[in-house]
Amino acid sequence: MDNIIAQLPKLAKEKQNENKKFFAKLRKKPPKELDYMMRDLHEAEFQRTDCLKCANCCKTTGPLFTNSDVERIAKHYRMKPQKFVETYLRIDEDQDYVLQSVPCTFLGADNYCSIYEVRPKACREFPHTDRKKFQQISNLTMKNVAICPAAYNIVEEMKKLLANK
Ligand code: SF4
Ligand code: SF4
Repeated sequence: MDNIIAQLPKLAKEKQNENKKFFAKLRKKPPKELDYMMRDLHEAEFQRTDCLKCANCCKTTGPLFTNSDVERIAKHYRMKPQKFVETYLRIDEDQDYVLQSVPCTFLGADNYCSIYEVRPKACREFPHTDRKKFQQISNLTMKNVAICPAAYNIVEEMKKLLANK
């Protein structure tokens, strides 16, 4: 897995133009069955992928924390939400709460998340490859394929499946 992660930024860069064209076409005319197709591709890929051998999302990019994430995780630590924010978070250029630093503070050396049950919504949903109307997050996906081997593979599979549509 480490090998794949190390190569991923280069591989994603090589696919950048192809992916841009693919997603531009997909946004213009998304196939009717896209939501079902994404769900199947996502499930198949994550049956093969062991996130505990990777954790590259937790190591290189942090989630954003919604107010309800902050309240839920602060409660888990029996902290006041404001104290949780001061201790772990900062506000980014989009005025969102994000981690003060990466790798994520809550990631263990064994790649387990210490707040897994109460982790932010963005962590639960990453890399968003099973979300509905997937074509609407193509810019985000083009960034995620450089971070997440599963997202990279899913996009490659999508291109093969939709090549003749
Ligand atoms: S979601 Fe992607 S980047 Fe995160 S641990 Fe799983 S395979 Fe790795
Ligand atoms: S909160 Fe947990 S799942 Fe989310 S980035 Fe941190 S370690 Fe990863």
